[in-house]
Amino acid sequence: MNTKFKNISILGAGESGVGTAILAKQKGYNVFVSDLGKINKKYKNVLLQNNIEFEEGKHSVSQILQTDLVMKSPGIPDTAPLIIQLKEKGIPVISEIEFASIFTKATVVGITGSNGKTTTTLLLGHILKNAEKDNPNLKTDIAGNIGDSFALQVSKNIANTYVLELSSFQLDGIIDFAPHIAILTNISADHLDRYDYNYDNYIESKFRITKNQTKADYLIFDASDTASLNWLKNNKIKAKLLPFSLKNKKEIQKIATDGAYIKDNKIIVEIDKNEFTMSIADLALTGKHNVKNTMAATMAAKLLKVRKETIRKSLSEFEGVAHRLEKVLKINNVQYINDSKATNINSTYYALDSVKTPTVWIVGGVDKGNDYDQLLPLVNEKVTAIICLGEDNTKIIETFKNVIPLIVETKGANEAVKVAYKIAKKGDTVLLSPACASFDLFKNYEDRGNQFKEAVRNL
Ligand code: ADP
Repeated sequence: MNTKFKNISILGAGESGVGTAILAKQKGYNVFVSDLGKINKKYKNVLLQNNIEFEEGKHSVSQILQTDLVMKSPGIPDTAPLIIQLKEKGIPVISEIEFASIFTKATVVGITGSNGKTTTTLLLGHILKNAEKDNPNLKTDIAGNIGDSFALQVSKNIANTYVLELSSFQLDGIIDFAPHIAILTNISADHLDRYDYNYDNYIESKFRITKNQTKADYLIFDASDTASLNWLKNNKIKAKLLPFSLKNKKEIQKIATDGAYIKDNKIIVEIDKNEFTMSIADLALTGKHNVKNTMAATMAAKLLKVRKETIRKSLSEFEGVAHRLEKVLKINNVQYINDSKATNINSTYYALDSVKTPTVWIVGGVDKGNDYDQLLPLVNEKVTAIICLGEDNTKIIETFKNVIPLIVETKGANEAVKVAYKIAKKGDTVLLSPACASFDLFKNYEDRGNQFKEAVRNL
């Protein structure tokens, strides 16, 4: 990217916008931040402390159209009138990831996918933190969609290795950004409202993660993921492919010589004739989806030359992330699990797959176009009762009324948990895995998960 630009407008004053503003100012840009909404106090203070010019509640369009570079926050869609005007005028509109990558030579691992980004990012981050103890020259940080923005981290100039969680919206705004290691966890329909309701556009967006990679780089991906495989069949990429699979070595060899697979209930990671083996029973994370996340993170760690012993120790102690299949409490021998972050069918599929007992399933919220039929076999096999937790539960009731005799509608976490407590029998699991967004009854998925946990603790 042209680095001679000296004026930057930043649209959106959240984590990525304010991070970009600080980095741009440090690098000598004239910075103007503009937010159509109200700016959060925390971020406003940072802008004031750093003497960065900003406005809120409006976009001064004529001023913004004068700048030579625009950073757009991921929340602003390409269809916003100002973005259309900027593009018509030929002004580059980039993401924070693109901007920050101009100013760092650090090794970057970029992690994207429909599900598993946060878990894989934090798991790899954990392995690398442990690896720092073996190697005093290694300085790692996680950033992107998680924690501090990448731009803010780059402005601090401490880390030499970054693990970035990347959403498709952040990838839409890259031009030259190229992670040395890209992980694409999986692809299933999500966020289609931002992609003209066209699944292919969303898939293209995810694969932007590899578009600037060279043959010295790597793409780690799920060998059983239909969307990924189809895309790779029809497109040429330069990076070396490293597939992972819950099946055997043959599955990997259909695609590449190296990769990760399962043999005798062990994960095997093979890269350059070097083999890492670990029993699935020794992993702290549970569930098939987490075996895949583990394979992906382990391959990246191997490529970054982390010692096997350090990887093994890290995998045996990393217990997961709040709101993702999080075990809350066992009461009267009933296990309560908070999977509030499951906001689509695919993530709930893996949650239901991972439970080993009869299950009272709490589901519902704002549905982003769900096809609940995909869950029918697992629901049939494991679910004894359904507790709906949403404003409109019609689709859920219609899909499951013929297979699940007991379906109860509730309008709050407390009520849902109390009903679950009454229904669940000794040895059962109560699983909150909503397959839906939370905005009808809650502030966000964290609020939903926290209210659920609070209600469980109050039982
Ligand atoms: P993301 O950051 O991509 O939203 P998370 O790690 O936060 O992913 O997990 C979101 C939800 O998806 C959780 O319910 C989690 O249990 C589930 N999940 C995690 N990894 C996977 C995977 N590889 N495949 C399917 N679902 C997954």
